Amino acid sequence: MEKDRLVSIIIPVYNEAANISAFFAFLSRVLRSISGYGWEIIFVNDGSTDDSAAALVKINHELSGAGSLVVRVIEFSRNFGKEAALSAGLSEARGAAALMVDADFQHPLEMIPELVEKWSAGAEVVIGVRSKNRKAGWAKRAGSFLFYRIIRSISKIDMRPGETDFRILDRAVIDAFKALPEKNRMTRALIDWLGFRREYIFFTANERADGHAGYSLGKLIRLAMNSFVSLSLFPLKLAGYLGLLIIFTVGPFGLYIFLGKYIFAWPYAASFSGPAQLAILITFLVGIVLTSLGLVALYIAHIHNEVLGRPLYVIRQNKS
Ligand code: UDP
Ligand code: MG
Repeated sequence: MEKDRLVSIIIPVYNEAANISAFFAFLSRVLRSISGYGWEIIFVNDGSTDDSAAALVKINHELSGAGSLVVRVIEFSRNFGKEAALSAGLSEARGAAALMVDADFQHPLEMIPELVEKWSAGAEVVIGVRSKNRKAGWAKRAGSFLFYRIIRSISKIDMRPGETDFRILDRAVIDAFKALPEKNRMTRALIDWLGFRREYIFFTANERADGHAGYSLGKLIRLAMNSFVSLSLFPLKLAGYLGLLIIFTVGPFGLYIFLGKYIFAWPYAASFSGPAQLAILITFLVGIVLTSLGLVALYIAHIHNEVLGRPLYVIRQNKS
């Protein structure tokens, strides 16, 4: 198989013993229906505590010498999380493109031909967008709505609500992704940060086939917080903005009362009691403190940017 016809399929696996063999049967059926490509299937076993490892070994044995499919299994020493599993898969992938898909049937395997088609037609990233998650609770849905709203407004990244890790990346994108040095990563967001020619496909998420979602609400909130912090400096500057707001609203008001009461004896200003004046003074001082915090934040922002060490730009291709 020529190298540019090889496509890697990356599957993070955490306690999916009940799904694995059915998943693999379905996946290989779909892949065999697409002609002209070789497939490298990379299972990343993210420290499963059930029989997932044994199930993967079994697949590997049964498959030996089966034509256009190669199966590889990467075993983590413990659970490091899906983001780490995807990163491992991407850095191991040898294909001209890599496709990421969940092992729990929540990503539509039957749409893989469409993803591959769009990629071979020239898209560098093809992203699966979930139009509806039938079973997700209201908290998860509201949270995800808010998350994309906030990310879009405080960072310069074009993330679509509902976009998932179900996506295919061209080799150029994989290499650019591997060159990103940061550790605390949200795969999806970083890929979006990279840019490149993007296309979307839309699907409705199925219910999880078996087992339960490894991402609890708490884990999701942590992931969201990490993303805000790593993708935007807005939270850092918030204190400063608040301080400025206070200074510019309370300041003139305090000045008005001071002048009105002690110098010009304006009747309305004179009616402010001592404690009220004290409250205004203290609020004003708080404004100054917050603004100073904001100033410090500017320097921290500077350090943050340098430490992230993201490349200044990403090159698609360098022709000579
Ligand atoms: N997963 C993983 N490590 C984890 C949690 C999940 O590799 O710590 C895998 C899991 O096996 C599945 C995919 O990541 O293939 C999506 O996980 P899950 O279904 O739990 O999350 P959700 O569907 O809620 O995004
Ligand atoms: Mg799932």
